[in-house]
Amino acid sequence: MRSPLIAGNWKMNGSTELVEAFGRAFAEARLPSGVEVVIHPPFPYLEAARRAFSETPLGLGAQTLNPFHSGARTGEVSGTMLKEFGVGYALVGHSERRQLYRESDEDVYDRLIAALSADIRPILCVGETLEERDAGRTEDVVLRQVGHAMARLEPAQRARVVIAYEPVWAIGTGRTATPQQAQEVMAAIREYQAGYDRDLAAALPLLYGGSMNASNAAELLAQPDIDGGLVGGASLKVDDFLAICQSAG
Ligand code: 13P
Repeated sequence: MRSPLIAGNWKMNGSTELVEAFGRAFAEARLPSGVEVVIHPPFPYLEAARRAFSETPLGLGAQTLNPFHSGARTGEVSGTMLKEFGVGYALVGHSERRQLYRESDEDVYDRLIAALSADIRPILCVGETLEERDAGRTEDVVLRQVGHAMARLEPAQRARVVIAYEPVWAIGTGRTATPQQAQEVMAAIREYQAGYDRDLAAALPLLYGGSMNASNAAELLAQPDIDGGLVGGASLKVDDFLAICQSAG
């Protein structure tokens, strides 16, 4: 019922050359049926990626967006603009945005609404820090982040949201959450959503992110509440990323 989604978040990495290498590799690749794959390159590469990916199964995603559609917001990019480039997904609330750019839960909500109103599916990122996990606060923190973003949405809007659980301590550290740790939190997210609507919760795509790689992806993706991955470092290497996509079938 829920089909796998693998999203590659390039963060502030990549080049036109890398975009083209992905285009070539995925044009030839045979992916397991039903697996959806999206690359989130930095904004300047969107047009090159749109062209390079046109004959591939790769979709396009953005890493953030501004809450407004247009106006005096120097340096920012809107959902309306992203939509013009064929962007189908946008990350909102990534922990790097929350930490480095001080995005609050309310800022994340505004971006989520902006994505929905531009007809872009938001991938809402949530996750606890190591300190919060050690203090036994993982579920409180994660469900607060989920609740803040989701509580005010209409059912039709909620149905468009993807949630990515990315424990902050597992991002870029090589320290992956164990499949059991990830499953436990992700089951709690689904259960929380079931409090609003059981059918929507059952259909909610949940991605795991945090040091996912070609060696650990299959075991993580085999968990009942893990429907896909949000991949950082390993999404910059064509072969590794392809291997992750293949293990999602
Ligand atoms: P890594 O896969 O590099 O740990 O990054 C995860 C991430 O932040 C994806 O959004």
